[in-house]
This record gives sequence, structure tokens and C-alpha cells, in this order.
Amino acid sequence: MLRTHTCGELRLADVNKQVTLAGWVQRQRDKGSVLWIDLRDRYGITQLIFEEGKTDAALFSVARGAGREYVLQVEGTVVERLSKNDKIATGEVEVKVSKLTILNTAKLPPFTIEDETDGGDDLRMKYRYLDLRRNPVREKLQLRHKMAQQTRAYLDGQEFIEVETPVLIKSTPEGARDFVVPSRIHHGEFYALPQSPQTFKQLLMVSGFDRYYQIVKCFRDEDLRADRQPEFTQIDCEMAFITQEDILNTFEGLVRHLFKNVKGIELPSVPRMFYDDAMKLYGSDKPDTRFDMKFVEITELTKGKNFPVFESAELVVGINAKGCSEYTRKQIDELTEYVKRPQVGAKGLVYLQYRTDGTLKSSVDKFYTPEELKAWAVKFNAQPGDLILLLAGESYTTRKQLNELRLLMGEKLGLRDKSKFSALWVIDFPLLEWNEETKRYHAMHHPFTSPKIEDLHLLDTDPGKVRANAYDMVINGTEVGGGSIRIHDRPTQQLMFNHLGFTEEEAKKQFGFLMDAFEFGAPPHGGIAFGFDRLCSIFGGVDSIRDFIAFPKNNAGKDVMIDSPSPISDEQLKELALTVKK
Ligand code: ASP
Repeated sequence: MLRTHTCGELRLADVNKQVTLAGWVQRQRDKGSVLWIDLRDRYGITQLIFEEGKTDAALFSVARGAGREYVLQVEGTVVERLSKNDKIATGEVEVKVSKLTILNTAKLPPFTIEDETDGGDDLRMKYRYLDLRRNPVREKLQLRHKMAQQTRAYLDGQEFIEVETPVLIKSTPEGARDFVVPSRIHHGEFYALPQSPQTFKQLLMVSGFDRYYQIVKCFRDEDLRADRQPEFTQIDCEMAFITQEDILNTFEGLVRHLFKNVKGIELPSVPRMFYDDAMKLYGSDKPDTRFDMKFVEITELTKGKNFPVFESAELVVGINAKGCSEYTRKQIDELTEYVKRPQVGAKGLVYLQYRTDGTLKSSVDKFYTPEELKAWAVKFNAQPGDLILLLAGESYTTRKQLNELRLLMGEKLGLRDKSKFSALWVIDFPLLEWNEETKRYHAMHHPFTSPKIEDLHLLDTDPGKVRANAYDMVINGTEVGGGSIRIHDRPTQQLMFNHLGFTEEEAKKQFGFLMDAFEFGAPPHGGIAFGFDRLCSIFGGVDSIRDFIAFPKNNAGKDVMIDSPSPISDEQLKELALTVKK
């Protein structure tokens, strides 16, 4: 090896040892007669010292010429430092260099390779390999590595078998568009890249594998949105001969194992909430349960008092922002502006201040007596010092809007601390979801999800009311995983496809292989997939998933480093029998 130690290894106990190190020049400090170089590798930084009179003159001048990011190999003696640096682990020693080899030179990097860099986003993406030299970025990938290791350790301990499924397949619908790959041998035919290994993992259950997992790349050609990656990684799992309860317990186990072994946190057992309750109490199927601030409905209390907005509203619902009663007019106006933004879409905001002196002040004093307002406060269990914020309108949209306001207030009140973790199972999702654009029902999870037997009779009369054996895991208001118990017989699967608007022929063409398999002794089964990149970012306490991916695409879906996507040659186009308008 080109080194005896790493740059993060030497301590006082190593003084007088002869060592060889290799790494990159982090920085130089040149005091004329003394020159220091900080040598960096993945493990840390070690200070090198060159002294006039003591260091060979030729060596001294070569060292002086070693610029930032040069790759060096040095031999020398470990000595105790005169002025110690307690900020780094090697800070008590330095290496008195007796031999130096420049392994490679380096151009001046386009941005500083420091924890706090001067490089903008685009530049760092273009030179991602340099960005990856920086500690904060490397540490995120090390966290990801640890998460993957611990995931494998846990699942292996639970008898799961890791099986690779193919990447060149045909469409597996998860609600996005497919990325397709043209076939050279079969002109006019295309592979699709998997949106998930869903059908394959179900087939593995038919094969008797019983417990499968895979840390696997999935591909979804969705509309661009900040922080969405066209290719991403899932921890994909499936189990046979289980109930929903078994799945929830097994994967709650996984998440708690990860918290314990990666972060040293004992996560309490994960509570469960019905989808309907989540929507009613938080206006979201992924509530942030780090803080309470549940919705309180006061529709009945507001009627018959001639306040037109509440009079015409299907729902009057609010939250209690504790300790905010003394908000100024300006602060409340800001909240009103927030809910009126097109992204939130509310028409206005009604407030009730339960002042610290015990008086009540609201924006609707004209319509309601102090006693009536007091009754609202009681409903909210409000105390002096609290601020009640109310929205009104059609139930579903109003709840959605109030969810946004609740999250904003949580943020303002410092209740969304990234070092705190609150996990939740949301269960009993609806089976189907109405799509306004296509004017038909779509599978809320995917078409392989089993309906609740007791709701099946509603499939024809009230499809939106049918619940599924489907569940999501939510951490800190983010959906980190989701899955379902599957249909495992042909007639039910066929019935599902019918309701999703597939003709029998279409269903057969696309998913005949799966329905055929169901006729050869398919066991009851179910599973889940976690978004691995997202899970890592939550563990890392960072909003963006990008830094947890070694070579991510930018927000326009491009890799600007390798320049992809990019045109292909006429030769390739011809081979693939494709024509492209130029
Ligand atoms: N295939 C599903 C998904 O990608 C997960 C599952 O149902 O297991 O969301």
C-alpha cells in the first residue's frame, strides 16, 4: 500500500513513529522559514511540517509548489505539535516530512473543498466528484451505507432473502409514466424500466420464497418537482402467509432497528391511525405528529348568526396555536396572506385571540357575542394566551388548507425539530381515488392491493368508500414507506382491473402472467416498500434527498456532469429504427 496510516489516525501515542501518508492538499500555510500542509483523505486531516534548516532544501521547495488538491505521498516522523488543535482528532501531532512524492498535480478546483464551500449548486453538480470530497457530503453517503448495512442485517435476521429482479421489463403501474428502452433486435418494441419490482416480488411469493427483500433502483418518469429524482432507491419487501398485523410489526421492527443502530435512538412503538382520522384531525394522510395541534370542528357552534362565510360553509374547522394570542395585527395579516396564496387557496382566515388578560377578541366580533366566542374557546380547550385560527368551506379542501396552516404554525413555534422523530402508521387507506382529469377511479396504492372484504359490497354502489388493506409509514410528516396486502386470486384481480377501466383483453395482455400465476397456488401475501433516499435524508435531518445520492440528477432531471440525457448518433438511431425530428 502507498501508506502506513490514514490521515485521521495518528495520535500522541504515535510520536517518533516513521509513517507514510497519502492524500490531498487541503491547504498550505507558508511562514517563510516554516511551511505547513494539511493533508486530507476520507478519514481526516494530518498536518505536515517542513522547516528551513531541518528539511532538505530541495524537498522544501517541492513542498512549497504543491498546490491545493495535489495528491501527495509523504514519509516522515510523528512529532508532538507546539500549538495543538483540539478541533481535529489528529490535532496534537504533526508529521516532520523527510520524503515527498507528488503522485499527481491538480488544477485549481472550481470551488473550495471545505465544509462551507463557495460553490453554487450548478457548479457543485457539474464537478460532483469534487463535491464528494467535502466532509458534509461524504458523511451523508456514509450514513446511507450504514442504513443499507443495518437494513440487510435486520432483514437477514428475519429470514428475508435478497433477490434481484430485472430492470428491462414491461410496465408495472405505480401511478407514474414509464421510462422506456427501445429494443434493437425487435424493432418497434420497447422495454419499460420498473417503477417498482411489484409484480416480480409477488411472483416470488408464488414461487415459495416467503420473505423477499431488495434494495433496488426504481424509475418513474414524473413531472419535475423540486427534490424528486427520476431514479431512486427502495427497500422493497414482500412476505407470504402473513396478516397486515405481521407486516406492520415486522417493519416497525426494521425502522426501530435502524434508529437504534444508526442513530442510537430508542424509538417508541409506532402508533397507528386510520386514514379517515388522519384526514379529519390533520387534513393530511401524512401528518407530522412531532406536535399536536389537532383540528377542532365548530361548524354547529357558528351557524345561525348571519356571518355569511360560516353560514354557507360545510365545515368550520380550526387549530389552537398555543401561546400566540398576542400576535400583532401584522403577524395575523401574514398568516391570512399565507392561506390566501394560490398554493393554499383559502379565501380568508378567521381568528380568535384568547388574550392573556382573559378577554376574547376575534375578527368576527360583529356577529358573535362574547359568550358564543367563549363556547368556541371551550371547544378548543383554549387557555388565556392561545390563538385560534379558523378556516371554512367545503370539507375536503378546507382540511387540506388547514393542514398547510398547521404545518406553518408548527414551524413558527419551533415544533418541527429535525433532531426529533415521530413515526406513525396510517392504515385503512381507500382502495380507489377519483381522478378529475380522466373522470374515473384509479387505484390509490396500485391495482394489486386487496380491498377489505367487508367493504367489497360497496364496489359497485360507492367505490370511493371501499377501504383497502393498505398502509403507509410516516415519519415527521413525510411518507417514508407504503404497502398493502395483495389480491392473490384471479377472479378478484380481474374484478379490480374491471373497476379500473381495463377491458378483459387489456388486463390479460398487460398482467396475464400474474393472473396466470395466481392459478397455480398463490399464497396469501403482502408487502411494503420504503423510499430509501428519503429515509436516509430524514435520518440525516436534511430536507433534500439529493445529497444522499452519490450522483443525483438536478431539478430538471439532468445529470450535468456527464450531460445526460443527450442525443444519440444517427447510427444508433438507425439500428433502433427510430426517427427523431431535428
Ligand atoms: N410497490 C409499492 C410501491 O412502490 C410498494 C408495495 O406495495 O410494496 O409503492
